[in-house]
Amino acid sequence: MAAIDGLPPLREVIATHELVAKKALGQNFLLDLNLTAKIARAAGDLRGCDVLEVGPGPGGLTRGLLAEGARRVLAVEKDSRCLPALAEIGAHYPGRLEVINGDALAVDVLAHLTPPIRIAANLPYNVGTELLIRWLTPAVWPPFWQSLTLMFQKEVAERIVAKPGTDHYGRLALLAQWRAEAKIVMVLPPEAFTPAPKVHSAVVHLTALPEPRYPADPAVLERVVAAGFNQRRKMLRSSLKGVHPRIEALLEEAGIPPTERAERVSLEQFCHLARLVAAG
Ligand code: SAM
Repeated sequence: MAAIDGLPPLREVIATHELVAKKALGQNFLLDLNLTAKIARAAGDLRGCDVLEVGPGPGGLTRGLLAEGARRVLAVEKDSRCLPALAEIGAHYPGRLEVINGDALAVDVLAHLTPPIRIAANLPYNVGTELLIRWLTPAVWPPFWQSLTLMFQKEVAERIVAKPGTDHYGRLALLAQWRAEAKIVMVLPPEAFTPAPKVHSAVVHLTALPEPRYPADPAVLERVVAAGFNQRRKMLRSSLKGVHPRIEALLEEAGIPPTERAERVSLEQFCHLARLVAAG
């Protein structure tokens, strides 16, 4: 029986094209088209947008993005075995799907996209984290994308949205929340995937803010945050010693007790401190 979009069900697609999941490529497929449609809806209003999808695999999420009205989808997939299945989707949505067979960490996608651009992906977690950090640290802000809707291991998702004073709070939370609004929009059990991974997953939706929440030089902020969290159990007056010769005075000026630990310092306080460090 055909699926809601008139294309074959994903189990059939996988059988026809012999897409046996490869562990080395982090292949855990989503085969429930209701679920992929829900993820596509979590990506926001796709009409009039180009969507960059990384790691489409057999195309479950790709189909969701197209059915939800994306103007165009640019899909970057490393595994060439997936290309025939993706070509079938392209034929069903003429002129709306472009597939690049390559490594998302190496392909230059910008030449293939027209703003407004949203990004959606269910990727291997290591690739996802690396791309997230790249997308959050462009040379200029605002970035080329409006929103990111990304599947992560639940624990990583919690690190992205964490608040001060919680176990997951650290560099990733500060990096994400400084220039984006980040929230977990869905939590998925292992059984949602084929084959099932060991852990729960979660979809994080990040919307780019027009400008950073608080002013700070990105490189200085990153240096202060990195030094603070490299020794997260230490007091800041000692973990930040190498950052500035008068760090205790600057911490006081930023309203941070020098005996405080990084995990209890807010984004606003880190940005204040970074401005004082940058001022010399
Ligand atoms: N999006 C599909 C889904 O939801 O069913 C597949 C998800 S699977 C977790 C990850 C996909 O990313 C696989 O198709 C894999 O081949 C692809 N992939 C892995 N590393 C990649 C990379 N560096 N660049 C592009 N695609 C990659």
